[in-house]
Amino acid sequence: MQVTFFGAAREVTGSCHLVQTKDTRLLLDCGMFQGSAFSDAKNFRDFGFDPKTLDAVVVTHAHLDHVGRLPKLVKEGYKGKIYMTPPTAKLTKLVLEDAEQVMEDEYRREYRPKLFELEDVDAVMSQVQLVDYAHRVKLDGVSFRYRDAGHILGSAFVELDEAGGPRLGFSGDLGNAPDPILKPTAQLAAQDVLIVESTYGNRLHEAQDLRKKTLRECLTRTAQKNGVLLIPTFAIERTQLLLFDIHHLSENRLVPEMDIFLDSPLAIRASEVMREFPQYYNQDTLKEVSSGEDVFAFPGLHETLSRDQSKTINEAPRPKTIIAGSGMMNGGRILHHLVRYLGDPRSTLLIIGYQSGGTLGRRLYSGEKKVEVLNERVQVKADVAAIGSYSAHADQQQILDWISSAEKLPGHIYCVHGEEDAAAGLATRLMQKLKIPTDVPRFGETIQI
Ligand SMILES: [Zn+2]
Repeated sequence: MQVTFFGAAREVTGSCHLVQTKDTRLLLDCGMFQGSAFSDAKNFRDFGFDPKTLDAVVVTHAHLDHVGRLPKLVKEGYKGKIYMTPPTAKLTKLVLEDAEQVMEDEYRREYRPKLFELEDVDAVMSQVQLVDYAHRVKLDGVSFRYRDAGHILGSAFVELDEAGGPRLGFSGDLGNAPDPILKPTAQLAAQDVLIVESTYGNRLHEAQDLRKKTLRECLTRTAQKNGVLLIPTFAIERTQLLLFDIHHLSENRLVPEMDIFLDSPLAIRASEVMREFPQYYNQDTLKEVSSGEDVFAFPGLHETLSRDQSKTINEAPRPKTIIAGSGMMNGGRILHHLVRYLGDPRSTLLIIGYQSGGTLGRRLYSGEKKVEVLNERVQVKADVAAIGSYSAHADQQQILDWISSAEKLPGHIYCVHGEEDAAAGLATRLMQKLKIPTDVPRFGETIQI
């Protein structure tokens, strides 16, 4: 068996790995590269392999950096099955349609080329083959099964076996357990080689209880200052977790009531998909929704689906909170709100997720005071706060714990899906602590297993 890394190698986005066995060529994920532009120029380059020669595509979860180049793959001739779990399929359709919309807007505004059209998304969905956790899928000379990764709804890690050959594990993205909504990450079976994500490979998250405290403080301060709280969202999972927390803070009267606008069509639709699959929740949350409670709603919440509805937010009186995409502020409706409110000292920007290098989100997170948003220069006077534990990713210790609790320790590990220092940090720790030979592969590098 051999694996070649065609994305998410020494960077976080663009997950895409080619697995070749004697009889089968299989692709793990086919994600989009996301840099300063929503659709980075790298997405338009050749894959590095011929899509027509693939036998199967195995998708771990519906985040754009794991599914965003599927339409390109199909457009360039891939005709086979695209495997994913049922929630991943629903979310993938939403995510790809939303990305098409963002690219269409950018095309109209700045003549940026589009990576794909809606018809390409339809083509992808027509090739989807649903597989739930734990079912083993048999292909030519190789089989695989999905296990719950606990990262977002329907997310999976992959256990791949070559008949008479090695076993390969691929983590996809690992969850930040314990997740208030999802089940914990499943146990890893014995693997000869493991490819593991390392987004937070050299960091530890702040304690989970700090999360609600910071959120509560930001909401309360916004009410006191009669200001505007801006929360750029990752539409799937993080938004629902945020709504879930506000639901409980509001239920217990721990925050002042104010208008809270969910200004993200993708997040609104993703919440609907979340409500459709309660069987994927952990026991506590399942129990809560079984009693008829809507854990993603609370008084004062307004969902602004259309553009016209979105424009009414400008006129709404302060204090108010605006939750809008995209999470790394490299596109989407949040940009309009940033232009309007970043220059106001009464505003607070609350960052709740990973900010990739080169994005506007990373610049604001790093404390830059002069930024350009939608071609306007903005002087940042708003407070900038961040909550690390809203991350959907496991931190260094959680990754280590997951690997240590495997049925048997993997023989060799490759760290992907992390910037160079994060991947190297995790590799060093794995070698020191677990004594497992670990490498950080480069883009285009092939390993023999
Ligand atoms: Zn992810």
